[in-house]
Amino acid sequence: MSTPIAYTKPSITKLEILYVTDAVTNGWGARCYEYIERLEQQFAAYLGVNHAIATSSCTGALHLGLAAAGIGPGDEVILADTNWIASVAPVVHLGAIPVFVDILPDSWCVDPAAVAKAITSKTKAIIAVHLYGNLCQMDALKTLAEQHGLLLVEDAAEALGSEFHGAKAGSMADFGVFSFHGTKTMTTGEGGIFVTNNANLYEKVLTLSNHGRKRGQSKQFWPDELGFKYKMSNIQAALGCAQLERIDDLVSAKRAIFARYKELLKDFPDLQMNPEPAGTINSAWMPTVVFSEESGITRQQLLEAFQQANIDARVFFWPLSSLPSFTQQLSNIYAYGICNRAINLPSFIDMTDEQQKRVCQVLINITCAEVSL
Ligand SMILES: *Cc1c(COP(=O)(O)O)cnc(C)c1O
Repeated sequence: MSTPIAYTKPSITKLEILYVTDAVTNGWGARCYEYIERLEQQFAAYLGVNHAIATSSCTGALHLGLAAAGIGPGDEVILADTNWIASVAPVVHLGAIPVFVDILPDSWCVDPAAVAKAITSKTKAIIAVHLYGNLCQMDALKTLAEQHGLLLVEDAAEALGSEFHGAKAGSMADFGVFSFHGTKTMTTGEGGIFVTNNANLYEKVLTLSNHGRKRGQSKQFWPDELGFKYKMSNIQAALGCAQLERIDDLVSAKRAIFARYKELLKDFPDLQMNPEPAGTINSAWMPTVVFSEESGITRQQLLEAFQQANIDARVFFWPLSSLPSFTQQLSNIYAYGICNRAINLPSFIDMTDEQQKRVCQVLINITCAEVSL
């Protein structure tokens, strides 16, 4: 059996070990927030936003932001049907109603025209999720949000380092959220961050994230309101600070892996990969291939071929509306169609050229494409 190829895993250097060792050795008592504050400041500076709050996960950051913005029972929140459960779970936890709309066939992100059609008098928010590093059409979504007085949220967990006409993904909406889960471009093990330019929203989220204790509240053990506990630890933040110092290299490495796949697969007929429209940068978190309908290739065939080759490739997200917790929305034809003939390719930072060729060889063998590596 050939050696296994992982799908994603973090890039850890001496710097990460140095910072984490320092945090676990010295980061207690009066110094217990040092790395957290540093991560928040440096992340906000990297993104070009005013405020950041480190959290225990992206799901937590999204829950906090939606709660602070007043999303609650009966409110409708629009998002793409093609998504990971994390982007919708907080909506449901708050008693709001998720409205799943179709994706665009090229970016696999939410279709603004479908969003426009789904807006009702109950709509309160749009969650724009940048899928696999690909960008949503933020200009169109912003226009819609402004016209209808809706909250616009960016879930940029998969697009750290992507840029839309000069603006970083996650910096363009009322608030943005990121994940530092171990599979993401930058990691803290588990973790996330909330970002915003809105000072009021920032204060509300800060209070909610700390069990409802207001900043400056001097009374001990006195929550001013009922909040959540979604804080990041100083030790995790130390890991995050080291990763953030290396972020340009990490993003470049991801982009290089994607570019190499594109090069290796350039003669492959009818294969669609992550797009990078003019004026944008795709940080290539997850290189993905989508086969044409005519190819007859199925998800199951792809999975089995990769399993046989001892390569950990992942299926394209199932439509959220197809999961047991929701009601099927078969009219979302792209969300229901593309996932049947698509697969995420391995893309961990230290991947070798030989490993990338092994991945491509699986695609060539399965289709009998006349492509040589
Ligand atoms: C990974 C991911 C999340 C969840 O992040 P956690 O830190 O695990 O909560 C949310 N949204 C998107 C788009 C993701 O890819």
